[in-house]
Amino acid sequence: MLVMKSSPRGLLNVLQCPTCRKGELSLMSEQLVCSGCSARHSIIGSQLCFTKTADKDISQYEAEAEQFVNRLKKLVKEWPALFVFLTYAIGSVSFFGQKPKKTIEKLFGERAMEKLIVNVGSGITKVHPAVINLDIFPFKNVDIIADAARLPFKDNSLHMLISESTLEHARNAEEVIREMRRVVRPGGFIYISIPFVMPFHASPNDFMRLTHEGLKQRFHDFTPQKIGALGGPASAFVTFLMYFLALPFSLISEAAYNLATYFFMVILSPLRIFDLLFNLFPRHLEVSALIYFIGEKKT
Ligand SMILES: [Zn+2]
Repeated sequence: MLVMKSSPRGLLNVLQCPTCRKGELSLMSEQLVCSGCSARHSIIGSQLCFTKTADKDISQYEAEAEQFVNRLKKLVKEWPALFVFLTYAIGSVSFFGQKPKKTIEKLFGERAMEKLIVNVGSGITKVHPAVINLDIFPFKNVDIIADAARLPFKDNSLHMLISESTLEHARNAEEVIREMRRVVRPGGFIYISIPFVMPFHASPNDFMRLTHEGLKQRFHDFTPQKIGALGGPASAFVTFLMYFLALPFSLISEAAYNLATYFFMVILSPLRIFDLLFNLFPRHLEVSALIYFIGEKKT
């Protein structure tokens, strides 16, 4: 199958109208028009826009962006490379497990560019050149703006779906999970990561955690290929300790609390190295900060 990352034309045969969840889409004067419900989805620059329902989320996101630390974050997000460097250099999560890029290389190798791989809730990160980024926010590097609970793809159409630390931010995670399971083709793969032993983190909100068993159960129509920790027990310890120590600062102000968490993160982040050891222990998933699940859809 020909997949053109730079043009919606190459995607047309796998796209489906997310409004009525069944209509075929055709390209008409720089809009994607649904054959079923006549909905018109706009193309802005190179971004396909399938959602207008994000207004509430966007206003909440913007309200939070007003806060000092979030303004800093937004600034950093303008420079993705710097953002990635800072995440790895002084984050609270070790990221020692198998990441999506490596997974794509292992599964598809040289043929990755021919595969239809979508990262749901990608944010600004392009994990591999073959990946199509989908997010509810029109960030830089996002190719498709859509609601994860209404994915604009036909049933069984994707070779792989990636979702990194996204499900916990969805208001309707069970619907999102159903959509993710629907769009991957039999024999196709999913890479899901979700926090487990992790404090509340709003971006713009935070609703849930899943255990490794929870992931297996939610994605029961996928045969587990690999389950591991992106952030192990040491990451969980660092994250809890930094929020624990910062907690008294929340008496002063929101900004003081946020600054304190960042301060303690910088101080404590070297301890994440102990995940190299702790991730070797057989029961480490039971106290891990961030768990990933790679599964192959059953045929
Ligand atoms: Zn439609």
